[in-house]
Amino acid sequence: MISPDLIADRIATIQAQLPATTKLLAVSKYADTEAIRAAYAAGVRDFGESRIQEAIQKIQTLRDLKDINWHMIGSLQSNKARLAVQNFAWIHSIDRLGLARKLDRLVVESGHSPSLCLQVKLMSDPHKSGWHESELLAELPKLAKCQNLKIVGLMTILPQGLNPDQATEVFRQTAQLAEKLRSQGWPNIRHLSMGMSGDYHLAIAAGATIVRIGSSIFA
Ligand SMILES: *Cc1c(COP(=O)(O)O)cnc(C)c1O
Repeated sequence: MISPDLIADRIATIQAQLPATTKLLAVSKYADTEAIRAAYAAGVRDFGESRIQEAIQKIQTLRDLKDINWHMIGSLQSNKARLAVQNFAWIHSIDRLGLARKLDRLVVESGHSPSLCLQVKLMSDPHKSGWHESELLAELPKLAKCQNLKIVGLMTILPQGLNPDQATEVFRQTAQLAEKLRSQGWPNIRHLSMGMSGDYHLAIAAGATIVRIGSSIFA
């Protein structure tokens, strides 16, 4: 593992580049619990995991860190939805109507209501899930019937290999889509979860409120 001091230095460097309106989500899927403790000691409170079983083990091991917010950022199978609702403060990867409907029932049953982002895909990418803009707009009336959900933002992952101009364009389009949704009866869609180690500067410039950074901290 890399040293706690190095983790703290990397976090300080990243934090210094973030505007006050952008939150650092430290993606700890590559990190063991000692590395997560080092990031916590350096002030990070939001951690992102993409595989639910591994995440739950870490969450249990780190129960003593009471004010941690755990974020699910990986694709979520429906049969794991209940575990996700019970264990995460945020779920960024709501990528289909069936999952939204299932979560709508589970938040009532469980009494836990995580903040949710809709995962969108404004540029085609066979390797990533998420709503295309037209699909999302078409399904909005059905999503609106999921009245128990706390949908607070959009999340996107860029296809690999874009140049900076293309990446900026996709981030801007994501911000514009959020604005469009706000004007169409979804005033709570205020968050933009976008930007990773390689492109977070561009995402911030386009209005990211949450950047998800893993390898620049932990690898
Ligand atoms: C792994 C992952 C990240 C972090 O990626 P890095 O390039 O390591 O910063 C961000 N978002 C999602 C959805 C991820 O799976």
